[in-house]
Amino acid sequence: LGRKLTTALRSLGNSPVINEDVLKKCLKDVQSALLEADVNIKLVKQLTDGVKKQIDLDNIGTGLNKRRVIQTAVYKELCRICDPGVKPWKPTKGRSSVIMFVGLQGSGKTTSCIKLAYHYQKKGWKCAVVCADTFRAGAYDQVKQNCTKARIPFYGSLTEPDPAVIAYDGVETFKKEKFDIIIVDTSGRHKQEDSLFEEMLQVNNAVEPDNIIFVMDASIGQACESQAKAFKDQVDVGSVIITKLDSHAKGGGALSAIAATQSPIVFIGTGEHIDELEPFETTKFIRKLLNMGDIEGLIDKVNQLKLEDNEDLKKNLQKGRFTLRDMYEQFQNILKMGPFNQIMGMIPGFNDFMNKGHEQESTNRLRKLMCIMDSMSEDELDSPDGHKLFKNNDDGSRRLRRVARGSGSSPKEVFELIDQYQKFAQMVKKMGGMGLFKNGDLSKN
Ligand code: GDP
Ligand code: MG
Repeated sequence: LGRKLTTALRSLGNSPVINEDVLKKCLKDVQSALLEADVNIKLVKQLTDGVKKQIDLDNIGTGLNKRRVIQTAVYKELCRICDPGVKPWKPTKGRSSVIMFVGLQGSGKTTSCIKLAYHYQKKGWKCAVVCADTFRAGAYDQVKQNCTKARIPFYGSLTEPDPAVIAYDGVETFKKEKFDIIIVDTSGRHKQEDSLFEEMLQVNNAVEPDNIIFVMDASIGQACESQAKAFKDQVDVGSVIITKLDSHAKGGGALSAIAATQSPIVFIGTGEHIDELEPFETTKFIRKLLNMGDIEGLIDKVNQLKLEDNEDLKKNLQKGRFTLRDMYEQFQNILKMGPFNQIMGMIPGFNDFMNKGHEQESTNRLRKLMCIMDSMSEDELDSPDGHKLFKNNDDGSRRLRRVARGSGSSPKEVFELIDQYQKFAQMVKKMGGMGLFKNGDLSKN
């Protein structure tokens, strides 16, 4: 999806004029990319309608700006769809909370139960798991083995046939022992059969859960919506866990699950191992859908550079603009900050350029680059497209030679600097265009 969507949005950039037709074509491409990623058709329609509503083509300025407005609108709409408007459930200290897991067989319930217990246990909560699955042979053994490995107390029975009885007994036992979080694993069936739902309701009545988590396998594609809806119709689903997002699952189903259950996704499963459970972060998820994962780390790093101190840079970033002077000032910042290899390493191309691992050498290299920039004119430093001034034409070569002479370096060195700057500026443009800079900060939310 990422690539397709990015292509769809990028095609906007190739059009000299952006009018109703271009927008229509772009939204069509976006639609087909989303459908291919298993996003539910109703949601796709909702998204494009939302984007259209946000955009007033006549009043959003020039072509470049229009493109950004459209990109940002798509990004925002995706974020909006991901937000059910309900706060996720949280456990309370000083009382026992019961969490019941529901979902089809094979969706990853048992695995996720244990992952969740492990997650809370690491944070200092007293957790236990109750295995109320009497349907699947070996269900209890699975819980027993994995809980033992992770030192999580568990409860189950190989002789009691009634899952509601086991669930009740297990929950009561752990309540008496003042456990904070008691997780009840239930059975699933291959299909949404009446017998599954009946059993689910009985367990539900027996343990009266504080939170019901619906577990869904991300790889089931368009089936997500009806499945999530079927469970929501039966019990009061409060949260969702999407599993197997490490596989080639396209992730679009996650959006359907949120829409169908009107519940937040709280965690995602990213592997079979006990610690492969990640809190769901809307922006991160959408960025991944939009193929923006590579810049996530950079944002964190750049955030540490304290942009608040620099009003001009803030304004530029908001516009997706990054000049040579901005780069100069960032270098200054970095020199002040100490180890910068990490940051440089995140920028494509800077990697080898900066000679990773050799602090002193890198510092000298940076000084050299700043010395080159010191020989540039004010115009060159402040142009939003500084690299264009150094293009491969007469004027560009003249500038290149002048700066090289002035700074006692070779034209090749100046050329390399410009090349790296261009990559950096493109990155900033991309981030700015996606509306990632809020209030002048590289905002994560
Ligand atoms: P249940 O029937 O709903 O209890 O499902 P299980 O927890 O037994 O999981 C079914 C299979 O999916 C097992 O082989 C798990 O290891 C696997 N599984 C569960 N969650 C994930 C995940 O996030 N990623 C991957 N790759 N596999 C998972
Ligand atoms: Mg199970």
